[in-house]
Amino acid sequence: MPDLTRRAFLASASVPASAMFALPRRQTAEPATAFALLGDRYHNSDHYRTAFGKTFVRDMGLSIDFSDDVTRLNDAHLGRYRLLIILRDGMVWPDGHGDPSSNAGWWAQGQPAIVSEPPLPVIEPRSVGFMTPAMGRAVRRFVERGGAALLYHNVTYIAPYNDDFRDVLGAVTRGHPPTRTFTVRVVNRDHPITRGVSDFVVTDEQHYVEYQKDPEHLLLESVNEDGLTHGDWGTRSAAGWAHPYGEGRVCYLAPGHLITALWNPEYETIQRNAARWLLRQT
Ligand SMILES: [Zn+2]
Repeated sequence: MPDLTRRAFLASASVPASAMFALPRRQTAEPATAFALLGDRYHNSDHYRTAFGKTFVRDMGLSIDFSDDVTRLNDAHLGRYRLLIILRDGMVWPDGHGDPSSNAGWWAQGQPAIVSEPPLPVIEPRSVGFMTPAMGRAVRRFVERGGAALLYHNVTYIAPYNDDFRDVLGAVTRGHPPTRTFTVRVVNRDHPITRGVSDFVVTDEQHYVEYQKDPEHLLLESVNEDGLTHGDWGTRSAAGWAHPYGEGRVCYLAPGHLITALWNPEYETIQRNAARWLLRQT
């Protein structure tokens, strides 16, 4: 260690720790209420941090720690929070994406040929499920012990990889067609999450799911009013539900590819109602 740096280090050692690490009060005394795991190859985490930063943080006063680091799904980390929010799919590409076709900037700028000198090493990209058995158990235990989970959109693509997560969520994906316009119908208006909310229309990915919990927990369905289908699954799908799980609570909401869908006024009301119901404020 150079002398100057060493002297500076030794001088700092005499400063009280409380002065050296003076942090804003909330970070030390008042941990965030919610942890949000957002983003994947096809879902830019900034898009969703922006969306939820308005709906929950700015408009509702909820405190959220945001991350796209899937390794945070462990007992110690989740134990700091009352609410877990997830919007991400089931896959990661540890060896890279192979081509930049999922990069919005490259795509919108005319997809120029990719050149690299020296050449890139030859790597065969492959996708793998990110959720380890330990991560799935951590999510399940978090909710069983009284935590709440607000699960969005493409988390149904995590379910095929992990039975604990699938059981908490209550569904598995059946895929989705390209972005199009569809109606979200409220099928149960007597629940605190949907009370006073009207049907609404969004342009988004209409996600189709195999719903596996009791039909009495269903709150929303998506309906393509133009008669457009997806595979053999017709024009409609379950699109929102809420159920107790152990000592905790779970809510799933399907729309959520685009901010323009997430910020639909009726849908924002549903999302804020869901956060209040999950946190037992209603
Ligand atoms: Zn999506």
